[in-house]
Amino acid sequence: MSKLVIDGQEVEFQHGQTIIEVARNYGIDIPHFCWHPELSVSGNCRVCLVEVEKMPKLVISCATLASEGMVVNTQSEKTIAARNAVMEFILINHPLDCPICDEAGECKLQDYTNQHSLGESRFVEEKQHKEKRVPLGPYIMFDAERCIMCSRCIRFCDEVAKDPEITFIKRGDRVTIVTYPGKEMDNPYALNTTDICPVGALTNRDFRFNARVWEMSSTNSICVGCSRGCNTEVWVRNNEILRLTPRFNEAVNGYWMCDHGRINTWKFVNAEDRVNGPQIRRDGSLVKVGWDEAYSAAASALKSIGKDDIAFIGSPFATNEDNYVFSKFAKSLFSGKHIDFIRYTDPQFGDDILKNSDVTPNSLGAELVGVIPSKTSKNIDGIIEGIASGKIKALYIIEDDLVAAYPELESVLPKLDLLIVHATNFNKTTNFADVVFPAAAFAEKNGTMVNFDGVVQRLRPAVATVELDRAMDGMSMSRLDKFGTKFDKWAQGNKRDALPTWKILTGLAAALGAKYKYQMSEDVFAELASAVDAFKGIDYDDIGETGTKIKNKIAATVKV
Ligand code: SF4
Ligand code: SF4
Repeated sequence: MSKLVIDGQEVEFQHGQTIIEVARNYGIDIPHFCWHPELSVSGNCRVCLVEVEKMPKLVISCATLASEGMVVNTQSEKTIAARNAVMEFILINHPLDCPICDEAGECKLQDYTNQHSLGESRFVEEKQHKEKRVPLGPYIMFDAERCIMCSRCIRFCDEVAKDPEITFIKRGDRVTIVTYPGKEMDNPYALNTTDICPVGALTNRDFRFNARVWEMSSTNSICVGCSRGCNTEVWVRNNEILRLTPRFNEAVNGYWMCDHGRINTWKFVNAEDRVNGPQIRRDGSLVKVGWDEAYSAAASALKSIGKDDIAFIGSPFATNEDNYVFSKFAKSLFSGKHIDFIRYTDPQFGDDILKNSDVTPNSLGAELVGVIPSKTSKNIDGIIEGIASGKIKALYIIEDDLVAAYPELESVLPKLDLLIVHATNFNKTTNFADVVFPAAAFAEKNGTMVNFDGVVQRLRPAVATVELDRAMDGMSMSRLDKFGTKFDKWAQGNKRDALPTWKILTGLAAALGAKYKYQMSEDVFAELASAVDAFKGIDYDDIGETGTKIKNKIAATVKV
């Protein structure tokens, strides 16, 4: 390892690293607008200037290679004076409209103006005015006045999305960004530019003006749009999700997420058609009842059916904890002979950037924890056939919409003796259900999922349910920290009466005379980690914020 000195501290570096990269490794923050660790170096903003001993002029740290014995000063008088000058220059034509800018509160320019500028302008001439609202694509709005010409967005489209769509035109203070003739900025990753734009020039049309960033809480989670499981932050105000943003995880998604995941995967959580409280069918209609009444109705209906005549359909959208308890429930209280889940793949969706053609978040987890048929029992095709032919008399399905996946079953489901469904939202299958249990959505529960590559990752509640609100009442601060959620439990807003599937099954098992001793999803995980080979030795602490890779992806026998 070679060595250099930055601000009096001796640090090591590898051949080929630039000064800014070395400094970053040691927690020394050199201001930068145009540099981004995942993009090529353009060196245009000049705010990362530093002084290097024996060099006649200041150098830009993003484009200057570290070399043995170099002595770098990021805080010298000359460096600070240059930084102030660069900031003053960048701000000359900036509109300074922070009070009405969506980026305010998370804006690099705002932060650096506070940290590195003189706080006053000598520019008395009229500022250059440009267009304030230019839709560049379905999700991106451009404010030309705020652009500081860093070119991060252009390089992102060229280098990461591999779809050059935008460029600079004109010169000097007239420079602006346009799409190429006949093109829109509509690549499947375009919204990442709103994250990396260091000012409020590019904003998310799906979110802009919905909230100020400081009004929201953000909770670490993962996207459920496909089996990549991109790491995210879920942003919530008044118990309502307002946006998702990507969270860095080198092994899973780097800095990015796709626009589908960002826009389409969470709105059902806020939707009007959420199942709110347990429902049982009376006189042809679903009626809301208490939990005890629903458990006892479901238990006595299940007892009246032959154990071999019930099919169980788990879910690639549910957590490992949900699927594990579902498998245990089916196999220990019933024969569990007919158990499987529906796979959803879409080759058109997958690409070689992030998007995976398995468009569910946890199919590998569902398999690993045992929601699979034995060699002699019916798989999903056999179950569908059994339902259609009337051989299967009852069906228990969690967190999936069977009729949407198999529309031909619409005419057959009414003939079942019993249909029990766990659902977050009313859907085509709940239309025929005898009992509907309200399932907590991914953003309302703790749990784990396994991505296509075998990385176990955590979900955390960002939105409060009635149960979570009650559970958190009286929790000590240290327990709340362990709980891992940042939502404000006193937040106003609609709280649904919904439970995680594993908890519903625990209640129903009790009504059937079985005692499952789980209080928290962590208890379920501890049991599955000792029962399922692939998870052996993993606990929540290993999973942490960025997941842990399981050692053995081959489905193991689950002891129930
Ligand atoms: S729009 Fe944003 S990211 Fe693009 S060049 Fe301007 S400031 Fe940079
Ligand atoms: S690639 Fe998949 S997991 Fe990642 S954001 Fe898109 S849909 Fe979500």
